[in-house]
Amino acid sequence: MTKPVLGLSACLVGQAVRYDGGHKDQPWLHLAVLPWVSPVIVCPEAGAGLGVPRPPVHLVAGPAGPRMIGVADGRLDVTEHVTAYIGRWLDSLAAVDGFIVKARSPSCAAHDAPLVLESGEVVAGSGLFTRQLRTHLPLLPIDDEAALSDDQARQAYFDRVFLYRALRIARATDEREAWDAFFKLALAVGNLRELSSGFGEVVTHIRQLREHPRADTRRSVVDQIFDLALAPRAPHKAQHWLSDDANVRELSAAERALRFAL
Ligand code: SF4
Repeated sequence: MTKPVLGLSACLVGQAVRYDGGHKDQPWLHLAVLPWVSPVIVCPEAGAGLGVPRPPVHLVAGPAGPRMIGVADGRLDVTEHVTAYIGRWLDSLAAVDGFIVKARSPSCAAHDAPLVLESGEVVAGSGLFTRQLRTHLPLLPIDDEAALSDDQARQAYFDRVFLYRALRIARATDEREAWDAFFKLALAVGNLRELSSGFGEVVTHIRQLREHPRADTRRSVVDQIFDLALAPRAPHKAQHWLSDDANVRELSAAERALRFAL
C-alpha cells in the first residue's frame, strides 16, 4: 500500500521558518506520523520570500476578504505576494490526502487566526493558505496541531485521511478495484461511527453508485458517501489510528453490508 500524502506546515516539523526565526516542532509528528506518510512540507510566508526573521503580520478584514498586514507597520501589506505564491504552490501540488496546519497563524490556521474587523473587534478566521487550500480541494481533511492533541482526535483525523486517499485513487484510476477499496473503507469508517441510520445510507449510496455509473451521478453520490462516513464519531474502543487495514479486518458488519450492497 502506498503511503498517504500528508501536507504539513513547515514550522510543525522543526523547520525554523517562523517570523521570529523559531519553530513549533511537534515531537508526536516525528514519532507517530512522519514514518507512515509521504510528507509535503510548506511555509507559505517563507516560500513567498518574506524572509526569516520577518516583521510579524496579522489578518485585517477588507472589502474583498482578509488582508495580511504588518502588526507594527500598518502600511506593510503582503496579501498579493503571499496569495500569488500559494496559488503557484497549489497548482504544482501533485497529490495530497490531508493537511496538518499551524493553529492561530495568519497563513496556516484552520479556523482560529485572529482577524481584525473594521470596528476593531477581533474574531477568528482561517489563514490565507488554508482558505485557498479549501477552495482548491474542498473535501481535503485539514486540521491543526492543537485539535490533534489526543489519540482519539488523531484516530478520527487519520480515518478521514485514509478515506480521502482511497477516494483520490479511485477517481484518478477509475478502476473497479480502487472503487471497491474506497467503498470498503467508507463502510468501515461509517460503521466505526456507529451511525445505524447513516450506515444504512452509506450502503444505499453504494448500491446507487453501482447501478448508475454516470459520472455526474457518481460524483454527487460519492460526495454523500464521503460526508456520511465522516460524520462525528462516537467514542470507540482503542485501536491504532494509522491502520485502515486493521479497521477493515475487524468490521464483520461492514463486510456483510458490503456483500449485500455490491
Ligand atoms: S505557521 Fe505557516 S507561515 Fe507561519 S511559520 Fe509555520 S508554516 Fe510558515
